[in-house]
Amino acid sequence: MKKFNPNEKNIHLIHEKLIIMDDKILITGGKGLVGSSIEKGIKLGSEIDLRIPEITYNYFNYNKPEYVIHCAAMVGGLGRNINYKGKFYYDNIMINTNVLESSRIHDVKKVVSFLSTCIFPDEVNYPLTEDKIHLGPPHESNYPYAYAKRMLDVQTRAYREQYGLNYVSVIPTNIYGINDNFSLENGHVIPTLMHKLYLSQTNKTDFVVWGSGKPLREFIYSKDVGKLSLWALNHYDEDIPIIFSPSQEISIIDLVDLLVKEFNFKGKVIFDKTKPDGQFRKPTDNSKLKSYLPDFKFTSIEDGIKETVNWFIQNYDNIRK
Ligand code: GDP
Repeated sequence: MKKFNPNEKNIHLIHEKLIIMDDKILITGGKGLVGSSIEKGIKLGSEIDLRIPEITYNYFNYNKPEYVIHCAAMVGGLGRNINYKGKFYYDNIMINTNVLESSRIHDVKKVVSFLSTCIFPDEVNYPLTEDKIHLGPPHESNYPYAYAKRMLDVQTRAYREQYGLNYVSVIPTNIYGINDNFSLENGHVIPTLMHKLYLSQTNKTDFVVWGSGKPLREFIYSKDVGKLSLWALNHYDEDIPIIFSPSQEISIIDLVDLLVKEFNFKGKVIFDKTKPDGQFRKPTDNSKLKSYLPDFKFTSIEDGIKETVNWFIQNYDNIRK
């Protein structure tokens, strides 16, 4: 068989295989940032309350998906994590428990579940690798989310061992792209800063960024995550999760520069040091992904931001914000 390569020119390879089972793939969180970037499958949006066992089981029983890409989660940036700790824990632990248990009961053949790099221990030897998830407590600012997500890894492995199911999980770094939540208070750094810049530009006000600007982050464009998710559904079968990241760090200051250029913003940029920096850095090692897909081309942050900013401006009236 020809070696699999999910880059654009070979994308038909993925589609060829998935055309047969398009209506058999269920994507939870299908309207969100990740789910909406996956080109195939039935997109399950927020109309089903996956926190409630009976509703989740009934949905699976009625629709009988054979494959599940599980992206649904209660998510948000630093601000929302700090202000909604109880909700972050409850919503996520319930959603994950119900989705995996419903998949098991209703004979779903494969589940690809989404974890996140922010579930790793706060104090850990960098770079992050897949075997370090449980080696210490997560950062104080997001421990409810982190522990709930860590349990998704535990549940996945336990189900593999007891029931022999080919369920796997993936760990993307910070994702950005179209269909994100552009909330000023609760969004992640890229969508929030885009929204703030847009308002500063329109209202001729200062552009206020949280923290010192010194923290480093890695970002992955949502379309890359969409491609890699379909690859994982078809080809990734290990019990240990796999990191999805270009493994390239950028400082918040440099990110701000990129955004300011993209918006052609000429006003004043202020770093508000009374606001939190969060974790200083969390670099990843993507060797495992590279070993499977040595030729995968990640979208550059410049291109990804350009596309997202254009989409954001064109769709401003209708976006989540
Ligand atoms: P994190 O990667 O889990 O910490 O989540 P975020 O996407 O919220 O990124 C937070 C980083 O961006 C921190 O270093 C923040 O200080 C910085 N940042 C700068 N401005 C903002 C902002 O307006 N909103 C958010 N959420 N983060 C910001």
